Amino acid sequence: MANLALLKRRTAPQAITPDVRTLEVEGEPQLIGASRDELATHLAAIGVPPHQIAMRTAQLWHWLYVRGVEDLADMTNVAAPVRQALAERLPVGSAEMVDEQISVDGTRKWLLRFPAKGAGRPVEVETVYIPEESRGTLCVSSQVGCTLNCTFCHTGTQRMVRNLTAGEIVEQVVFARRRLGDLVGAERAANGPSEGRMVSNVVLMGMGEPLYNFDNVKAAMAVVSDGDGLSLSRRRITLSTSGVVPTIERVGAEMNVLLAISLHAVRDEVRDVLVPINRKYPIAQLMDACRNYPGLSNARRITFEYVMLKGVNDSLVDARALVELIRGIPAKINLIPFNSWPGAPYECSDWDQIEAFADIVNRAGYASPVRTPRGQDIFAACGQLKSQSQKMSARERRAEAV
Ligand code: SAH
Ligand code: SF4
Repeated sequence: MANLALLKRRTAPQAITPDVRTLEVEGEPQLIGASRDELATHLAAIGVPPHQIAMRTAQLWHWLYVRGVEDLADMTNVAAPVRQALAERLPVGSAEMVDEQISVDGTRKWLLRFPAKGAGRPVEVETVYIPEESRGTLCVSSQVGCTLNCTFCHTGTQRMVRNLTAGEIVEQVVFARRRLGDLVGAERAANGPSEGRMVSNVVLMGMGEPLYNFDNVKAAMAVVSDGDGLSLSRRRITLSTSGVVPTIERVGAEMNVLLAISLHAVRDEVRDVLVPINRKYPIAQLMDACRNYPGLSNARRITFEYVMLKGVNDSLVDARALVELIRGIPAKINLIPFNSWPGAPYECSDWDQIEAFADIVNRAGYASPVRTPRGQDIFAACGQLKSQSQKMSARERRAEAV
């Protein structure tokens, strides 16, 4: 049984409803992240004649998403006056790499800075690359900080700053491919899959709750999965949510990517504390949304993520309840050893306990890989991401306005 007294002492009341209006930015447009229609609009705006728009759009698409070029000057088959007019209108991209850390296990973490939008400040987000023999997974952020305050998550301790634009989400993928030499003719980085693409999978498991930035995430994934561009199959894209129930159906219907649910507890009184959005959308509603997820099948299972917290959610009674809870849902269970961070109010379960828990889940017929922590030495593991970007206080905003 979870030690509820312990849970209560450790946690203060949390906000569970973000004020989404304050999170949107009127993003400065940039070329990276643009859809074909948006590229066509930019081309029309600089006076490209209608009969050339489709051809120029295809050229830009190729340079941006297949070749990954950073500079309009390198788009050699685009007429010079078009390049010049575009350059005056908007940048190709806007990410600046502030830091790169490479773990002893080959995991890389990049701190990327995006410029200020409107009255805001520049923001920084983390993007993580996890190389394996057979694939390379890029863990992408969708927001700067997070409005939700899951009590075991480091990102949750960072104040929400703003949503990332579609361009900023796509740019994390383009940046990683460039940096890893995952482009035609480039030299591949040392760590990564031995063949195929260096970035073969994308997981929306970085900073932020992707379903509180649905439109931008959807637009970004449409670009990332386009077969003539970045070309990542939707079956290789996984969106992880803490359980924004009303939007889950739209992930399947409109984005058609794989779904992961941050479940982490099998009873409401425990989940209410660990994942406070549960107070708004309790477990029963979440399970209904999972059962109704469009396109669910044995080939397209839902992944249930379950962080192992010592004495909180790791009993064998919980393991059996977990199996009961997801009965009938084509599912995988991903047991995540808790990754600690300074001041974290939990400890990771003992290894024997994790194994005994996994055993029960396996015997019930569910694949339950224990996620090997990656990049812990560089603070890149699940839930350890946190950037220094902080929302401006009203006083700071006033000071900046004078
Ligand atoms: N906000 C989304 C996606 C980002 S978090 C979500 O919550 O699903 C990605 C995964 O890492 C989630 O399952 C999250 O619960 C888990 N996680 C967060 N903090 C963690 C920690 N300290 N140790 C292990 N996993 C953690
Ligand atoms: Fe936000 Fe996900 Fe962390 Fe919860 S686990 S605070 S939803 S990033």
